[in-house]
Amino acid sequence: VSVYGAPVIGRHGNWLGIIVVFHDITKLIRLEEVRKDFVANVSHELRTPITSIKGFSETLLDGAMEDPQILRDFLEIIQKESDRLHLLVDDLLELSGIEQEGFQLHIREVSLSSIISDAKKIVSGALDKKRMHIIGEVDSTETVQADPDRLIQVMVNVLTNAINYSKAETTIRIATIVSSKGATIVVEDEGIGIDSTELPRLFERFYRVDRARSRDSGGTGLGLAIVKHLIEAHGGTVKVESEKDIGTKFTLFLPNRQI
Ligand code: ADP
Repeated sequence: VSVYGAPVIGRHGNWLGIIVVFHDITKLIRLEEVRKDFVANVSHELRTPITSIKGFSETLLDGAMEDPQILRDFLEIIQKESDRLHLLVDDLLELSGIEQEGFQLHIREVSLSSIISDAKKIVSGALDKKRMHIIGEVDSTETVQADPDRLIQVMVNVLTNAINYSKAETTIRIATIVSSKGATIVVEDEGIGIDSTELPRLFERFYRVDRARSRDSGGTGLGLAIVKHLIEAHGGTVKVESEKDIGTKFTLFLPNRQI
C-alpha cells in the first residue's frame, strides 16, 4: 500500500485536519513482477542460441574447419540456431504488436474451410515428415467472422503443436460447429497430452511443459500466448482439455458480431 498525506487548512489559515490517501498498489507491483519475469525470460531465450552460435563459430575458426565433415555439421547447427533466433524475434514482435493499443483486426465474413485448408497447407511439410494425417470434413458453406490472416496464424500455431507433441503416424481431427452465435473450431490430437496441473499456465508466455522437447521441435514458447491474444482480440475464447498419453483438444470459439 502506498500512503499519501496532506494537511487541510481553512480559509483563515486554521488547521482543519489531514487527508490521508491509501492506495492499493498490489496490482502495480504484480505487473512490474510480470514485466521483470518477461525481460528475464526473453534474455535467457535469446542468449541460448547466441551462445551456441558464438561457440561453434569460434571453434571452427580455431581450426576445426579444416575437417570438412565438422565444418558441415557445425554450420548446420549455426544455421539451426539462427533460425531459432529469427523465429523467436518474429514471435516477440508479433506478440508486442497484438498488445499495442492501436492493434486492429480486419474482421470480415470468411469461409471456414478455406482458412483451415490454408493452415493445413502451411503445416503440410511438418505433417508429412511425421507421416501424420489431418482428418475432418469442413462444410464449404460454413463461414466465420474473423481476420483471415490472424485466424490462419492461430490454426497454424495449434496444428504445429498438435504435430510437435504427437508420435509419428497419429491423426489430428478438426471439427467445426457453426451457429447463429458464432463458429467453433475443435482441434484434437492423439499426442503426449498434458498433465492437468500444467493446464492453467499453458497460455503464459514461455511456459512449456517440457522445455527440452519444445526446443527440439523448434518451439519458441510463445505460440499459445499468441493464440490466446488473437482469439480474445476477436472477442472469442480458447479452451484446452487434455489427458496424459491420450491426447489434447483445443476448442476455439469466435463470436458473430455486427460487421
Ligand atoms: P512451444 O513453442 O513450446 O510449443 P506453445 O506456447 O505453443 O510453445 O505451447 C506451450 C507448451 O504447451 C508447449 O511447450 C507444450 O509443452 C504444451 N503443448 C501445447 N500444445 C500441446 C499439445 N497439442 N499436446 C501436448 N502439449 C502441448
